[in-house]
Formats: sequence, C-alpha cells, structure tokens
Amino acid sequence: MDLRFTDDELAFRAEVREFIRTRLPEAIHRKVAEGRALRKDEIVQWQRTLNEKGWATPSWPREHGGPGWSVVQRWIFLDELHQAPAPEPLSFNVNMIGPVLFTFGTEAQKQRFLPRIANLDDWWCQGFSEPGAGSDLAALKAAARRDGDHYIVNGQKAWQGMGHCADWMFTLVRTDASVKPQAGITMLLIDMRSPGVTVRPIHTIDGRHEVNEVFLDGVRVPLDCRVGDENKGWDITKFLLGNERTGIARIGMSKELVRRAKAVAAQNDADDGRFRERAAAIEIGLKALEITQMRVLDGMREHADKPDPRSSILKVQGTELRQAASELLLRAAGPAAAQCADEFDDASSWATTVASNYFTLRAASVYGGSNEVQKNILAKAVLGL
Ligand SMILES: Cc1cc2nc3c(=O)[nH]c(=O)nc-3n(C[C@H](O)[C@H](O)[C@H](O)COP(=O)(O)OP(=O)(O)OC[C@H]3O[C@@H](n4cnc5c(N)ncnc54)[C@H](O)[C@@H]3O)c2cc1C
Repeated sequence: MDLRFTDDELAFRAEVREFIRTRLPEAIHRKVAEGRALRKDEIVQWQRTLNEKGWATPSWPREHGGPGWSVVQRWIFLDELHQAPAPEPLSFNVNMIGPVLFTFGTEAQKQRFLPRIANLDDWWCQGFSEPGAGSDLAALKAAARRDGDHYIVNGQKAWQGMGHCADWMFTLVRTDASVKPQAGITMLLIDMRSPGVTVRPIHTIDGRHEVNEVFLDGVRVPLDCRVGDENKGWDITKFLLGNERTGIARIGMSKELVRRAKAVAAQNDADDGRFRERAAAIEIGLKALEITQMRVLDGMREHADKPDPRSSILKVQGTELRQAASELLLRAAGPAAAQCADEFDDASSWATTVASNYFTLRAASVYGGSNEVQKNILAKAVLGL
C-alpha cells in the first residue's frame, strides 16, 4: 500500500492552490473563513468560475463535461477548497443529480440538464426525506399516479436543504403501494415553479434558514421528468446516497477550524493547558483519520466504481472531529461567541458566527446517513457481525 502522493499529484495540488489563490474573490473567501452563510449569487459566481476552468464537476467523466480526474485528484481538489477555505461546488447539483442523470437518464435529459447543472443555471434540491421517512427512507408516502402523459404528485417532504433557492427538486415518490416498500418507488424531477409546490422554511437552532418543508399538492410532472423506469427508483437512490457520502470527512475543514481556534485562543489568552490538550487530541484524531482516508483512497485507485464500506468510518469520525473542532473554537472565542448574527459585515464580527456554526455542525452527524446507521453498515459490511 502506498500512502504517498505521486509527483504528478503534488503538482496538481500546487495548481489547484494557485487557482484558488488568484481566482477566489476576497469577499467570498472572508465569509467562508468566518463561517458566514454565503448568498445564492456568491455560490453561483464561484461555481461559474470553476466551471469556466472545467473544474465545477470533479467526479464527472470527460464524456459528460467533467475533468475526468482520478479519485485522488478529486480528493486533493476538495482538500484544497476546504483548507483555503473556499466553497465547494453545489453538492445537490454536482455530486447527486448530475451523476444520476449521466448514469440513468435519457439522452434528452442529459442534454437538457447536465450543462445547466454544471454551470448552476439550475439550482437543485433533494426531496427525499419526509416526516416519517428519514433513516428508513423506503417508508416514504408521497405518491404519484399516472394521468395521460403526466404524473400527479401529492405529499410532503421535509428538510430540503436550500430548497428556497431551488429551481428543481429530484424527489422520490410511491408509484405502487401493493409491493414491498423498496419496489414501489420512482424518482421524479420536479420544477419548483410548478403549480401546487409550496416551500416553507424550517428555522434551526443555529438561527439560520437553510432547510425547508416542501408540500406537493396535485403537482403535474411530465413523464419525461421521470428518471429510469417506474418503480425502479430504489437502485438509483442507493447510487445517489453513496455519492452523497463522498468526501464527507472534510478533514481540511476541521484543520482550518483548529487553526482558527488556536489563533483566537492566543489572541484571547485562552490557550491554557486544557485548551492545548484538547487541540492536540483533535489534531491527532485528524492525522489518524487522514491515514485512514489515504488507505480508502488507495483502494479506490483500483476500484473507483465500487463504494468502499470503510468510507462509513470517514463519515463517523470526520463529522465527530468537525464537531469537536467547532467546540474548540467556541471555547477559544469565549463570551464573544454568545452573539449570533449573519448581518454583521465588518471583519471584527467573525466571533458572532462561532456559536451559530457550532450549532450548524450538530446536524453533520445526522444528514448524509446518521452516524448510528453508518455504524450498522460498518458492523455488517466491514466487521462481518
Ligand atoms: C441540516 C439537515 C439537512 C438535511 N438536508 C436534507 C435534504 O436536503 N434532503 C433530504 O431529503 N433530507 C435532508 N435531511 C434529512 C436527513 O437525511 C434525515 O434527517 C436523516 O436521514 C435522519 O432521518 P430522521 O431525521 O427522520 O431521523 P430518524 O431516522 O427518525 O432517526 C432518529 C434517530 O434514530 C437513529 N436511528 C434510526 N434508525 C436507526 C437504526 N436502524 N439503528 C440505529 N439507530 C437508528 C438515528 O441515528 C437518529 O439518531 C437533512 C437533515 C438535516 C438535519
């Protein structure tokens, strides 16, 4: 097993770093560094800059407009974005619906949607979860029935991240209630401007509006907006969820949080023995996770098409370390972190986002498949229990 990068991979890392340094607008860089929410237009602007360079879709093969990178190049690219720090390309578009369409979509769907997905001309959201269907996604109840060349969709979806910004939603609906749950599910693409679609905000403990409920009342969806065959949505769902977990460890982000925590603690005279001990424990955890990540990546050099169940370790450890790093920063910021606001624009206001980010990251161990469920996967697929 070779855990070192090749010379070409190191040269690639330098190229990515230089591109980010010269092309990322300072205002966006500062907002990400301070943990402030970006506006939709800022996310779109950066994704279009990446797309001009051919880098907005790291996991896409060349034939579908991607850079055709190896799995190691993809990881280096994301790691550089996280450490810069710079925004990632919009995951709903680039990691989720894009790969689904170039793998399962019709030629017409590929031509219609893929270029717009890459350039963020259309913003997508994920309409999977429902009030009674999260970890047990196959229990979903939103239903569709055929009416000529349309489906009529009724139901409720929950937790749609950035759904209020979205032009389109990829969603799962029940099209056959008489078979076992997984066998009666279909994937549909819903235009969010369709009559009958209502988006309502869910305000979370971090004081932000990122997630939503989406109500579907008699929404008419043309048949050509179905992905794959009717009742065959479950396999596509598993493919999509596997991609959602890609890069989820976000080690670079945790490193950046620890770096900030140390700088802030030094400034606030908060870097006492207990603080340094905690910081060191997180850094050791990150180093160990990095080695695990390299092992998983090395395996994927040969078998990039097969999801590695060990990536569940990256999800569990990565999110727990990110939560620990955000807690460290909270401790370093001290009482200044008690303020909570995204409306501050001056440089000295960074502390106002520390508590809010700490709360935001509580959810990281829930979405993308909860950590408890990842542990079930590890028990079965890795430990053979
Ligand atoms: C911030 C945020 C953003 C999200 N964004 C989206 C989005 O954009 N689109 C979307 O469709 N969904 C989204 N979700 C929903 C997310 O996928 C679900 O919250 C997640 O799947 C868990 O489902 P649940 O909330 O219904 O909890 P439940 O499934 O009810 O789980 C409750 C608790 O029970 C545990 N549990 C459940 N089953 C098992 C089991 N078999 N073994 C052991 N423990 C178990 C869970 O780990 C959890 O701790 C988002 C959620 C959050 C918090």
